[in-house]
Amino acid sequence: MSTKPKKKPSAKKKPGSPKAKPAKSAKAAKPSKPARAAGTDPKRVAAILTKLDEAYGNATCELKHENAFQLLISTILSAQCTDVRVNQVAETLYKKYPDPKAFAYATPSELEQDIRPTGFFRNKTKSVMGASKAIIEKFGGQVPRTMEEILTLPGVARKTANVVLGTAYGIASGVVVDTHVLRLSSRLDLSRNEDPKKVEQDLMKIIPQEKWIQFSHQLIWHGRRVCHARKPKCIECNMESLCYAKDKTV
Ligand code: SF4
Repeated sequence: MSTKPKKKPSAKKKPGSPKAKPAKSAKAAKPSKPARAAGTDPKRVAAILTKLDEAYGNATCELKHENAFQLLISTILSAQCTDVRVNQVAETLYKKYPDPKAFAYATPSELEQDIRPTGFFRNKTKSVMGASKAIIEKFGGQVPRTMEEILTLPGVARKTANVVLGTAYGIASGVVVDTHVLRLSSRLDLSRNEDPKKVEQDLMKIIPQEKWIQFSHQLIWHGRRVCHARKPKCIECNMESLCYAKDKTV
């Protein structure tokens, strides 16, 4: 006859066991929301915008293009690549592939070789061909003009969408946040977020919408010419008196 084993007296719950209540200190460890950047005082932001206008009044997109479609393709190709390199490739590329149809029905292995110098050429070929097909099939051969629609194209995220809508169509749907805008927004204390989407939201709150397109170009120009990632040329910077970045060089 089998006997039921006696129940062991229940052990006290140890902290850290799955059923144990979370310790108070665990709550305290929850990552806190970054504080609103102190540099977003409207007067300071206005002063930064004035300085950017003074230094880069004619800033514009440095990717050469003749229409919205070429700009879209060049922006896709510019991921992890310089604009100079993309422009070199584009010079022959758009002669060989003059419209969405030519890209959509290209031979993938041939297109891969044509865009190879821009890097990540296999993925970029998929994006370029996918976006071109979608433009033909869903948008009548035209690059769409709304953020919602353009984001449905393969390989197109907010950065690319903002470049195309802003530069090709003059539509301010957001702020382009590339590596330069990300770095400078932090150095100028305009955002304390690190995620580009959150940085864009922060910038959209403090920059007037009519400045969104130009502001992106100006920050990119400043990042390329003066406020370099490694050694910013602070001595040449006209925003030096407004900047308290930790890695300032003066
Ligand atoms: S002072 Fe230096 S770190 Fe600050 S924005 Fe100018 S170049 Fe960049």
